[in-house]
Amino acid sequence: MADMVGTLFIVAAPSGAGKSTLVNALLAREPDISLSISHTTRPPRPGEEYGRHYYFVERGEFEREVAEDVFLEHAEVHGNFYGTSRRTVQDLLQRGRDVLLEIDWQGAAQIRKAKPDCVSVFILPPSRMELERRLRGRGSDSAEVIERRLRNSRGEIAHAHEFDYIIVNDRFEDALDGLQAIVRAVRQRSGLQCRRHEALIRELLADA
Ligand code: ADP
Repeated sequence: MADMVGTLFIVAAPSGAGKSTLVNALLAREPDISLSISHTTRPPRPGEEYGRHYYFVERGEFEREVAEDVFLEHAEVHGNFYGTSRRTVQDLLQRGRDVLLEIDWQGAAQIRKAKPDCVSVFILPPSRMELERRLRGRGSDSAEVIERRLRNSRGEIAHAHEFDYIIVNDRFEDALDGLQAIVRAVRQRSGLQCRRHEALIRELLADA
């Protein structure tokens, strides 16, 4: 089945909605999904590692790579640049792996144009108060950064309707079940299944 390419999943959310926590829990349940590691000019947070959380790069290097068309999508968020390597994603998909991108709405819009068969999911917080509570509770950002993230959350949420699916991350386990259900349903789509089970279908249709 050399022509079985993987599915590209996009997950976006306003910062603090629980996107990374949900995605990490999904990957633990569905180890056949590869998380695409983004390039970013944002400085690492404590505990973040190069190549595991992000490829941390200087602004100059990032700009050079944009000019060289290295990125499938790239965007500026909260004053930092983020991008996804075209080659890495392409290689994984060609090898039949499902790939998940954690990106913002601008990146999602670029991916939809480049890969219309991608599947996009938007995560909403259950309330503005809870979003703020989670941002503060994470303890990784300064008060100023948290304020900026809260201000910018409206700009992100305004694009929720552009996504194929929306999940409200209120009770974590429910949100995780919802996300996993999307992945599982996508894998059973008839277009994919007809290719995957071509021999079976042919056999079932054959005259006795
Ligand atoms: P994002 O990746 O969307 O910026 P994180 O995954 O870092 O958000 O989550 C922000 C904070 O909210 C983290 O401290 C995380 O543990 C917490 N969190 C995530 N989901 C829930 C939930 N359903 N209920 C309560 N807290 C949550």
